[in-house]
Amino acid sequence: MIIDCHVHLSTFSYEGLSFSQICDNLVSSMQEHGINHSFIYPDCEPDTGVSDLDITVELVRRHPKLFMLGTASIPVIDSEIIDKLDTLASTGDIIGVKLYPGFELFYPDEDRCHAIYQLCTKHDIPVVFHSGETMSEPWREEYNHPFEIAKVATQFPSLKLIVAHFSQPHIADCRDVILKNPNVYADISGLAHPDVTRICGKDAILSVLEDVATQQPEKILFGTDWPICSVGEHLKLVNSLTVSEKVKTLILSGNAESVFALELDLEGSLKGR
Ligand SMILES: [Zn+2]
Repeated sequence: MIIDCHVHLSTFSYEGLSFSQICDNLVSSMQEHGINHSFIYPDCEPDTGVSDLDITVELVRRHPKLFMLGTASIPVIDSEIIDKLDTLASTGDIIGVKLYPGFELFYPDEDRCHAIYQLCTKHDIPVVFHSGETMSEPWREEYNHPFEIAKVATQFPSLKLIVAHFSQPHIADCRDVILKNPNVYADISGLAHPDVTRICGKDAILSVLEDVATQQPEKILFGTDWPICSVGEHLKLVNSLTVSEKVKTLILSGNAESVFALELDLEGSLKGR
């Protein structure tokens, strides 16, 4: 089984298509690459070209192979969105919450994020942080650096935190934070993109992933950032790691099942709701 933990319904790659059509393209792409399940991340702000929370909830309910995370815009966070996410977590519509530090100017350890962390702790669902490269504006990366995420890990030790994109280009810092903090994980989405390979170096990427996979194999999650990144290249990246088949299986699906607390039913479908 393969689980893609990080995709978006985005018009950037599909100009002129509706989100429903883009969702159908996602399902076709999954079939083509043998992906069993994908987790969709909505945007925290409306009208950005990426599906928002409400649109995504509606589309994911129609597709048993798709799951989604909730999200909130931290600068305008209020009790209304917290109550909404609380309900969506209770009904199983969302299996985690994604935050966008760097895109939005807040640090993950700020008090205004705490209601999200309390909600996710209550439902035992993870928080995913956008991390690393942000809109090609490096000054934004100080808001989502793995060291900032590590502060939350210490404050909320029973909360699971996922660093998206292995915080590229800060992949070595991300590795160190994962290895030091038992409740911090990372997804590999974007790491196989040619620009990222050029900036970080292929050998450096393989080396940090193998470091983590060898010492704490339960910490790496497969993700692609489809549709802006290639699913095939990301599968190739995992298959090129010098690790056992057992560890590759953990990366490709087993870790996502555990971190997101999903279960397989007899037909091989995930049950999270
Ligand atoms: Zn993404």
